[in-house]
Amino acid sequence: MSEVTRFAPSPTGLLHVGGVRTALFAWLVAKQTDGKFILRLEDTDQAREVSGADQHIMDSLQWLGLQWDEGPFRQSDRLAIYKEWADKLIEAGRAYTDPYTQSELDELREKAKVEKKPFLFRNHRPENPPKWDGKQPLRFLSDPKVYKWDDAVMGKMSSGPEAIDDFILIKSDGYPTYNFAHIVDDYLMGVTYVIRSQEFVSSIPRFLDLYEALKITRPILATLPVVLGPDGKKKLSKRDGAKDILDYAKDGYLPDAMFNFLVTLGWNDGTTQEIYTRDEILKKFDMARVQRSGAKFDEQRLTWMNGHYIRNLSIEKLFKLSKDYWPSEASKFDDDYKKAVLSLVQERLKFLAEIPELTKLFFTDLPVDKSLIKTNKKLADIEQATLSGLLKSSRGALSDSDFSVEDLSNRLNQLLTDTYQSPAILFSLIRIATTWAPASPGLAESLHVLGKETTLRRLDRSIEQF
Ligand code: GLU
Repeated sequence: MSEVTRFAPSPTGLLHVGGVRTALFAWLVAKQTDGKFILRLEDTDQAREVSGADQHIMDSLQWLGLQWDEGPFRQSDRLAIYKEWADKLIEAGRAYTDPYTQSELDELREKAKVEKKPFLFRNHRPENPPKWDGKQPLRFLSDPKVYKWDDAVMGKMSSGPEAIDDFILIKSDGYPTYNFAHIVDDYLMGVTYVIRSQEFVSSIPRFLDLYEALKITRPILATLPVVLGPDGKKKLSKRDGAKDILDYAKDGYLPDAMFNFLVTLGWNDGTTQEIYTRDEILKKFDMARVQRSGAKFDEQRLTWMNGHYIRNLSIEKLFKLSKDYWPSEASKFDDDYKKAVLSLVQERLKFLAEIPELTKLFFTDLPVDKSLIKTNKKLADIEQATLSGLLKSSRGALSDSDFSVEDLSNRLNQLLTDTYQSPAILFSLIRIATTWAPASPGLAESLHVLGKETTLRRLDRSIEQF
């Protein structure tokens, strides 16, 4: 059966990892069943709205490739519809005007607290509520009883009458509450499969009550467990260093890697496989295999996965993606040179924002940093004069190389024999002297890309320093 799913964020902030995972699962269910994925912006809480959040949400979804088939709908455009449905409930005797002022309500709440009883609005239903004029809140006349339902992830669920109360349908500002509006919208938009995060699970009995009052067949309900912080205890928060999704995009995480990471955040196919193509995911994803307990957000795993995706890119593709990440010094160099540099660092590159740090040495002579010798265990105790002598021999051996990788490798190996040194000493020294970095890609490959002129110039400069 084709399922209609939706992502229904409130534009009250930036889209974070947990939110976008909900969208991804909803998108997957729709695509897997040849159904529809709807985007609905639930902008009924005017006070909490953050300007620009709606655009941020849409940009995030599009970056990840989660294109919606319908929408974006905005609840603020649909106030007349909620009013119409509120009238239906009034007519059916299932909604009434809340006559209380804020201070009267506070008093009732306070009294319940003193009596150590839970406050339930339905215990204070007014006897003759005034006709609803839109200035006071409109409340649902609930039916407190046992509710049972099947959750596509959580399994069999039930709740008792204590979970039910007369909640607000329409606020005094004329906007509907989430509890009311989403039910009406899901119905009118033909949503068959509702996927949302765990924070709503305690409200589901109220939704079931409302479905019954409106005589609406309830959709399939699926509750996703929360995304936990790296300690696996608390819900993931900004403090755990979790960035919003477009920050990862800016840092040069690839949408395919993020897609793969998010889908395996709380789901697996029963094997230990971690890397899946989008097609594989579309074939294998199954809501019934989403784990019921919280899924731990592990940024290192995301970064590892991203490195995997980067290593599998062709150089042409990687070069295209790297456009905005080059250090300023690179502007003087041509595309072929940059591609050669990229193929050297591709193996180690985990996200594109690392490009400047990893490639700078190929574009500019960095200041000579002698501390790299001091901190290298093998080199630290060798006399400066010896080091300088080794560099001179190296310069001599390299000065008539054609600088092909093969010739460089041969000469470097010959140098080991001639100087009676180990690679750990000689190659580290040459590496430091030519790249001023403690580590770099293969030495012959690096020197090949740097070219003869730069290599010899850097060697000369280093020899001078010792
Ligand atoms: N507007 C709700 C939120 O952003 C949506 C919950 C739902 O998907 O029904 O949390």
